[in-house]
Amino acid sequence: MNDAPNDPSLSRLEAVRARAAQACRACGRDPDAVTLLAVSKTFPAADILPVIAAGQRQFAENRVQETKGKWPDLRAAHPDLTLHLIGPLQSNKAADAVALFDAIHTLDRPSLCTALARAIDKHGRSPILFVEINTGAEAQKAGILPEAADAFIAACRADYGLTVTGLMCIPPVDEDPAPHFALTAKIAARNGLTQLSMGMSADFELAIRFGATHIRVGSAIFGTRPAQKAHPV
Ligand SMILES: *Cc1c(COP(=O)(O)O)cnc(C)c1O
Repeated sequence: MNDAPNDPSLSRLEAVRARAAQACRACGRDPDAVTLLAVSKTFPAADILPVIAAGQRQFAENRVQETKGKWPDLRAAHPDLTLHLIGPLQSNKAADAVALFDAIHTLDRPSLCTALARAIDKHGRSPILFVEINTGAEAQKAGILPEAADAFIAACRADYGLTVTGLMCIPPVDEDPAPHFALTAKIAARNGLTQLSMGMSADFELAIRFGATHIRVGSAIFGTRPAQKAHPV
């Protein structure tokens, strides 16, 4: 197993934590106000265990099916872990997602609101919910368009009885992420939302400057990922 004290993921985790703390200090934010989510998608339990052993407790996955296979044993052994879904969610997997995850970052359409409200009611447990904003209005990307965000957030609350906690964005890969982070923060502020899920390995320090409360960091902790098969699985 891959849990030697000199496991490279440990020094990478430490380096990410130090960079995040430094980014907080540089803009006068409390480092405790930023939650580091270790994005473990594609990595097996053997690669995750040393990161848990190093004290990391918040993890993120992008697929329900993979999480179902990988996490129940890890969670049973470490009951204080929390798990975040950061990938697109099909309505027919809403019940599984509510059972598996402590937070869902990809609420993005009315049909999913219906499915989640039903699953939350049935399971008697509610993950923290983030609405995903498609800040770049990219046709292939999930998320609510910025101009539709206010009405959608209001509908989540009024029509579906869902508690929305924050917003999430994934800026277009080939653009400066700064305006996308700024736009997401602005939409959150005018809707009374305090949590911002933004920033990945390449840009989490910038995201912190724009108010990120949840940074989603994968390769900077776990190393280069094998390619994933196309969605859906
Ligand atoms: C994979 C993924 C990440 C992590 O990406 P890295 O560049 O490896 O840090 C963050 N957010 C989402 C939505 C992802 O799918």
